[in-house]
Amino acid sequence: MISRLVLQSLSKDKLSVFLFHKVPLQCDPLVPFDVDMARFEHLLDHMSSRLQVLPLEEAVARLHAGRLPRRAACITFDDGYPDWLSGVAPALLRRNLHATFFITSGQFDGVPLWHERILAAVRRLPGPLLDLGIPSLPAQSIASLDDRRRQVQRLEQELKYLTLTRREQILQQLEALAGVKSTDVPVMSEPQLRDLHSQGFGIGAHTALHPILDYCSAEEAEREIGGARERLQAIVGASVTGFAYPNGRPYADFSRLHVDAVKRAGYRYAVTTHWGVADAGTSPFQIPRFTPWAERDWHVTYQLLRNLMTEPLQVPEVAE
Ligand SMILES: [Zn+2]
Repeated sequence: MISRLVLQSLSKDKLSVFLFHKVPLQCDPLVPFDVDMARFEHLLDHMSSRLQVLPLEEAVARLHAGRLPRRAACITFDDGYPDWLSGVAPALLRRNLHATFFITSGQFDGVPLWHERILAAVRRLPGPLLDLGIPSLPAQSIASLDDRRRQVQRLEQELKYLTLTRREQILQQLEALAGVKSTDVPVMSEPQLRDLHSQGFGIGAHTALHPILDYCSAEEAEREIGGARERLQAIVGASVTGFAYPNGRPYADFSRLHVDAVKRAGYRYAVTTHWGVADAGTSPFQIPRFTPWAERDWHVTYQLLRNLMTEPLQVPEVAE
């Protein structure tokens, strides 16, 4: 097939890294466009028949040593969800595929992911209006399911770019209005993390509380980056060498200061969310990633090929 030959030729010395998040068994009515398990398993079959899936840390090392096989690819997941253990992990094991999971460590200290807290609250808010009394968030309808979906999106957009303190204030206000507690939101447990690690999967850090690093003070960013590594290492009893920048867009979400902090914290590589593929000239601390989302196989292949031709964006780093 022509697409296989093109893939073989375009992928020389290039590393494709795929990014997924929650992968629910069935999509949440409030987030209907998530990749669900059936779609994910189909994507895995499609990708694994065309690509050579490697552990991410090994692939980054081989890329920079000039020993990367053609059609090399890695699979990654961000954030940390308890149902990974019953969903994506068995699906990967059945196909003998490696993946690396980048996890927020705050959930092991009782703080669920902020966007999971929004979902849990919006589901239970009494209608017909959501009115937090905040000028930047004027009252809007939550009368229909569509309205609630829009409010989830609006709150995620608004709360993403706030300081951790301000975000926490609004989340608590929202939870009080909905009559829910943050402790009711499912989080990963320490035994689940150890389980994932003991099955041979890679464990990487994704900060403690998932802030936008550019909106953190230097001390806060340092704590989020280094603290998450220490917390995860203490749980799994092994070295954690990879880091994923929250939200992950170079310039918009992190800067060279944070790349430096990641190096100082002892990580060996880091991943962004900018599309494209890494080559030997790409910094191991800014490996791009891409989420294939198409429904049809030919379209997924087209997305893979287009991503192979995309130059990753990188912030300049201080010379070693
Ligand atoms: Zn994330």
